Amino acid sequence: MLWFGVLSKRSGKARRLVLSAAAKVNLALEVLGRRNDGYHEIATVMQAVDLSDRLVLEDADVLELRTTALDVPTDGTNLALKAAATLREMAGSSRGTRITLEKRIPVAAGLGGGSTDAAAVLVGLNRLWGLRWSGARLAEVAVTLGMDVPFFLHGGAALGTGRGERLESLPSCALALVLVNPRVAASTAEIYGGVQPAMYSDGGRTRGMAAALRSRQPSRVAAALGNTLERVATSRYREVEQMEAALQAAGALGTAMSGSGLTVFGVARSFDHARQIRARVARARWACWAVRTLRGPAIRVR
Ligand code: ATP
Repeated sequence: MLWFGVLSKRSGKARRLVLSAAAKVNLALEVLGRRNDGYHEIATVMQAVDLSDRLVLEDADVLELRTTALDVPTDGTNLALKAAATLREMAGSSRGTRITLEKRIPVAAGLGGGSTDAAAVLVGLNRLWGLRWSGARLAEVAVTLGMDVPFFLHGGAALGTGRGERLESLPSCALALVLVNPRVAASTAEIYGGVQPAMYSDGGRTRGMAAALRSRQPSRVAAALGNTLERVATSRYREVEQMEAALQAAGALGTAMSGSGLTVFGVARSFDHARQIRARVARARWACWAVRTLRGPAIRVR
């Protein structure tokens, strides 16, 4: 446990909010080029899935985070705590909160775990602190925390452009997926750092994925999967190809890596099919989940 921030006066009676914060997968991700600010210009289709962290927010004198997860920081670099500190500053508030974070989403896995936790804290504290900020105003705070955070305020499926933060709603397709994580973490900076100009593309594949989602057919979605970053990841981590080969051998309609990896996923015909695939690819050294896509919000108050 770590104490963070300035002591503040307790105001009002203690209250508590329980939230779930869902992960995402990138059904498509293309790198279009490099921007002057050092970021890459991307086009991506993000989709929320029902693998979620659980957060409890409680009134407290200070900003504080507790977690049993060993692989996430508990200081001000934790995105959940950073979200609370940023919101407090922007709201000119002196309130505190105790965040209890139960991690279920693997860390540094391309599933947006830290970003969804940050979005959950923004949604939760907006309520707990009675701020009544609009979604648009919360999104302005979200983008200062990370390019994926606005997506988690949005949920469902969305086309992301710019650095991934400019969002356009897409119809969510009811899909069953199998996620496989090698229990090896890759840093986003490392994977983006391996992108060569020859890998740049024009966003056509991502637009194809948006059209496939509109068709609501899992087989069309499976055929439209693609992630430029996968080429970088496969050249450095053998597990990526091995996990995708295992998913394909087990009957997945199509496979891809999510975000900067190293989690990969396969599209199944149904949730039962996803469970069968999951049972077939399960290995002691890999973590596997059968999940459904979420049509509604990624952040839910329980
Ligand atoms: P990215 O958004 O960079 O693609 P990711 O989804 O691959 O990230 P995260 O699980 O968000 O991965 O972790 C990225 C880094 O953020 C890790 O090094 C981790 O230590 C740090 N981090 C900070 N806060 C959190 C959090 N609440 N949960 C998970 N990781 C966090």
